[in-house]
Amino acid sequence: MRRWLALLIGVLLLATILVGAGVLITSWSPAPTPPVESPGPTSLAPDAYAGQRQRMVREIAAQGVTNAQVLAAFQAVPRHELVPPEMIPLAYADRPLPIGYGQTISQPYMVAYMTELLELKGGERVLEIGTGSGYQAAILAELGAEVYSVEIIPELYERATANLARLGYRVHTRRADGYYGWAEHAPYDAIVVTAAPDHIPPPLVQQLKPGGRLVIPVGPPGLYQTLWLVIRREGDQVEMLNKGGCVFVPLTREQ
Ligand code: SAH
Repeated sequence: MRRWLALLIGVLLLATILVGAGVLITSWSPAPTPPVESPGPTSLAPDAYAGQRQRMVREIAAQGVTNAQVLAAFQAVPRHELVPPEMIPLAYADRPLPIGYGQTISQPYMVAYMTELLELKGGERVLEIGTGSGYQAAILAELGAEVYSVEIIPELYERATANLARLGYRVHTRRADGYYGWAEHAPYDAIVVTAAPDHIPPPLVQQLKPGGRLVIPVGPPGLYQTLWLVIRREGDQVEMLNKGGCVFVPLTREQ
């Protein structure tokens, strides 16, 4: 009987030791990771639109733009920072918006489609005609291009230049009639024109590198135009591909 008692005490002792060790083991855990710093008001502001941007990117993709880098650029650029304050609630709607002076920031899908047609890999020299809000220029910069952008309206040139700098985009801007391109920095790997002339300006083709791509809407002002992809081949040869109907503000000319 005493042996049984001794055995029972032994078992109880062992159990106590094991439970104690178990407590020790379970109470051990790696050093707690520091809590994630809660975002302050400034870091919260751009992110407040991330969800809306994601929806916009999904809409662009659903319409057929599939290039992953292009879609990532649209997820990154804060479009709401480049539209006039009263247009901020509509910044991520897939539609063009007025930016003042009778001009519009193009529909996101159209900007994405034109950007995809340029087939940028990063590091290219790209000329944009029609800086407008600076949105297309920011997308091109986000894709790693060295961007040159020409705008004819002084107020839009100034506003876009200031906004792009404020957002940290290194874009070279110039106020001039973009019909003549920007010869000083030519030749370009790609040129994108965001206002419609009634013919392709010859200086733009001349400022393309061989193999370079020009995306340009051409047609009568106020009506539907045709989006053309022009690829410069050897010498003065060009290949012209019709990329469908579009609507752009007219390319105006300096008198
Ligand atoms: N890419 C712009 C779209 C702006 S709309 C954006 O992302 O917001 C087209 C722009 O082309 C307008 O700002 C208009 O003033 C400009 N434009 C029209 N004719 C021009 C010309 N000859 N040279 C340069 N810019 C011109």
